[in-house]
Amino acid sequence: MIDVVEATKEKMVLVCKVLQKQRVIDGYGHLTVRLADGRILSTPHMPPGKVALRDLIVINAEGEKLEGAGEPNGETPMHTSIYKARADVQCILHYHPDEVIAVAAAGEGIKVLSNSGVHFYRGTPIYDSPLLIRTHQLGDKVAAALGDRSAVLLRGHGGTVVSHSLDNLLRLGLDLVRAAKLQIMAAPLGALKTHSREECEQMVKGHDQPNANRRYIDYYISEVVD
Ligand SMILES: [Zn+2]
Repeated sequence: MIDVVEATKEKMVLVCKVLQKQRVIDGYGHLTVRLADGRILSTPHMPPGKVALRDLIVINAEGEKLEGAGEPNGETPMHTSIYKARADVQCILHYHPDEVIAVAAAGEGIKVLSNSGVHFYRGTPIYDSPLLIRTHQLGDKVAAALGDRSAVLLRGHGGTVVSHSLDNLLRLGLDLVRAAKLQIMAAPLGALKTHSREECEQMVKGHDQPNANRRYIDYYISEVVD
């Protein structure tokens, strides 16, 4: 029988490798997954793209370490606050991509200029502080800014995406950076035509189909495995 926790750990390491290969994470950032019993799997305090299976740690809902050799990340309270606020969220990626920081600095959030941006059509709120999220109080503020959306931009700092599954989280994590990049590329061109709400809703419906992410995910995984 497949051990769910072990399978989740393997997937987490793979997701980190994809994010590293695509250069959307660097020495910082972190990924967590909530387990069925409320415990949380987390990358430890080390570059997430360099994490191996044995490095993953288990923390409780308060962010205290239960298992593993490494230490929790300083910004763990952001994860625990979001899990408390959002029963639908099963995994969280926090990272610091330049493109996301540039867009947040403009104070506009993500514009849906391409199909990579449709996940974010309900808005990407901006948490208006560059300070690291090291306390439960600040974590709660980020969770409040996120609300019921799938991404929050942190001014001068980075971004956080949340999802119900690791496949979807990977897609959101890559597509947020791509959407931000397109927004920056298109900015000097003048007035921009964005997707209508109806167009976004129609496209997002397609994402609910079984295996909707398969081809997307398989491509990126093929880039990191032989
Ligand atoms: Zn951070």
